[in-house]
Amino acid sequence: LGMPSVPTKLADRRHSRKIQVGSVAVGGDAPVSVQSMTTTVTADVGATLQQIAELTASGCQIVRVACPSQDDAEALPVIARKSQIPVIADIHFQPKYVFAAIDAGCAAVRVNPGNIRQFDDKVKEIAKAASDAGIPIRIGVNAGSLDKRLLEKYGKATPEALVESALWECSLFEEHGFRDIKISVKHNDPVVMVNAYRQLAAQCDYPLHLGVTEAGPAFQGTIKSSVAFGALLSEGIGDTIRVSLSAPPAEEVKVGISILEALNLRQRRLEIVSCPSCGRAQVDVYKLADQVTAGLDGLEVPLRVAVMGCVVNGPGEAREADLGVASGNGKGQIFVKGEVIKTVPESKIVETLIEEAMKIAEQMEKDGVMS
Ligand code: SF4
Repeated sequence: LGMPSVPTKLADRRHSRKIQVGSVAVGGDAPVSVQSMTTTVTADVGATLQQIAELTASGCQIVRVACPSQDDAEALPVIARKSQIPVIADIHFQPKYVFAAIDAGCAAVRVNPGNIRQFDDKVKEIAKAASDAGIPIRIGVNAGSLDKRLLEKYGKATPEALVESALWECSLFEEHGFRDIKISVKHNDPVVMVNAYRQLAAQCDYPLHLGVTEAGPAFQGTIKSSVAFGALLSEGIGDTIRVSLSAPPAEEVKVGISILEALNLRQRRLEIVSCPSCGRAQVDVYKLADQVTAGLDGLEVPLRVAVMGCVVNGPGEAREADLGVASGNGKGQIFVKGEVIKTVPESKIVETLIEEAMKIAEQMEKDGVMS
């Protein structure tokens, strides 16, 4: 009862080198990880750790914190020590913060050596310090902060420009024998972004951090990220993902996890298979689906629940699910693994589904089938 089906994937994973971000492996055969970034002032240690705890609870595996000032750099040791998940320090220009982050025990640093070079050429020392500490560096190229030279060469942030910039940044570390790198080439246009990552994937074996930058408010950002990540991940490209939303970071994690689940790159948890309803519906499907979703919220087992508005497609879909209902004539046929186990009046559909779902979930937990 309730065994999850074997996940089928869309493509083999691109072969990337594996790096280690604290306890989380990125690249190679490591599962695609989900990360986010705090929105608090990093120097506010209490608020930052509180947000990291919330992110951890929502399933975030790696967290990035901005480090634009000395106060932020000074907060890093406590944050790195107390965070339950690996912390990446995000540094733009100042090498001294890179060294501070490495000394603080951060699991990785995001820094672009091209920026560092313009101010104070410490690339060699950074490569040595990161290498001695055994921590990787993310080179994060963004359309908005593309190198001037490349902007002039290409006219704008084209995929080619983003890729050339990233590989050039890598070469600044490679000169010093440092290859413990992952790369991102973010753009706010999913089409440009997808093309950039495709080209980059073909030209190096570094693990790739996927992101659509400035993707927008929750709805638009979710669509843009889902489409772009879906295109790339379905081709086997991408080793870690960050959904950027103008919304609380835990929302980013929720979307990221759902994208991986939708692509079978992670075992699906609760899945409500509900019909869109149509002129044949004999019940308010939207309401029923909402009530069932709310009633089963927080269930961590891979359970597929079908909520169907009529008996035309209902039984077929319900049969495919662990549990389902097909409504008709003021009643609901309740299916468990394809068998009608009972027929209940419409008013009892929700509570019966929840009751049966709990029974199956309990059995799954006993059998050790967790997400
Ligand atoms: Fe329409 Fe029935 Fe299909 Fe729902 S299951 S969309 S009500 S035909």
